[in-house]
Amino acid sequence: MDQNLRQLIETSRLYGKDKTFVIAGGGNTSFKDESHIWVKASGVALETIDENGFVCLSRAKLKIVSTKTYSSDATEREAEVKADLANAIVSAGGNRPSVETSMHEIIDYQFVVHTHPTLVNALMCSNKAESICFELFGEQALFIPYTDPGYILFKKVETEIVRFTTKFGKAPQIIFLENHGVFVAANSIPAINEIYSSIIQKITGKIHEVLPTDDVKPFEAPIIDEIQHMHPEFRTFVAKGIESSLIHHFTADRKSFLKADTAFTPDDIVYCKAHYLFIPALKNDEKQIESVGRLIDGYLCTYGYLPKVMAIEGQGVIAVEENIKSVLNVLEVFSNILKISYLSENFGGPKFMTKAQIDFIDNWEVENYRRKMAKS
Ligand SMILES: [Zn+2]
Repeated sequence: MDQNLRQLIETSRLYGKDKTFVIAGGGNTSFKDESHIWVKASGVALETIDENGFVCLSRAKLKIVSTKTYSSDATEREAEVKADLANAIVSAGGNRPSVETSMHEIIDYQFVVHTHPTLVNALMCSNKAESICFELFGEQALFIPYTDPGYILFKKVETEIVRFTTKFGKAPQIIFLENHGVFVAANSIPAINEIYSSIIQKITGKIHEVLPTDDVKPFEAPIIDEIQHMHPEFRTFVAKGIESSLIHHFTADRKSFLKADTAFTPDDIVYCKAHYLFIPALKNDEKQIESVGRLIDGYLCTYGYLPKVMAIEGQGVIAVEENIKSVLNVLEVFSNILKISYLSENFGGPKFMTKAQIDFIDNWEVENYRRKMAKS
């Protein structure tokens, strides 16, 4: 195996294993030479990736995505871009390249490691993201305000990279994406690691309000065993509850829960949906089970889908999903939402995705594909 690819795999696993950098299989990495780029396949987890988890693409063919004029209809456009990405694939195996492939291509460094670190997103999902980013990183980093993912985001990043490069005489090595994460780029892996540690160090320096102790434990309630009877679609589903000091902080009452009741990033929606069901404190009697059933029906009426996350006032959080793997992913991603919200208070408080931004993700085929892959 090529030495660079070996390093890419090693580094991908290193960041993928670290839950403070990569949540539930998110993030992606790449290596490029003059003619080819190796980028993580969609739906593959960095933590356990090997050479089959990367898709190799022709850079010349990928460049078409930059210059071509696509349909103005979002669904059509994304389908056209997807076809051009597929056309650029040179490796066998039928893997679909990461949706962020074009972005990796235009970043003018050999290695790119894109992650969604909790600490970075505490800043990226806050009201002062841009100003504190500038204060901490100045002209070292490029900050991209939230943009719908896919082609539109790619074009936005492309334009900003050109502007940055013209202004500073070198391409940016840190690209922060509001309500999303960070791209770090360099021509060597040690340089990538160095940049990441400086990012973490600088943001940590601004944290005065630290997270409560990590005391997550199972949350047991009779209602968890009753979930399957609460809606026909839940019949084969699995439910699991957890509680912690952090969870108690947000579930104390309905008002506290407003600081964690919707999505920060597109990934949050992929795993947890954009809304969570708040349920008043359980007393564990018959009547209660009926009333929770009614709340679930009400939620379904409002949003058109069943809840994946249910927060029980003062008690815990329950995730409901098709299988245990998905349930654990939902709990991991939702716990991360709580951490981000809590830490964002250091940066002017939480800034959630807007309704229009959420609707875009809900209707995006690419994310539905990732949802499917995450469950298999
Ligand atoms: Zn991402």
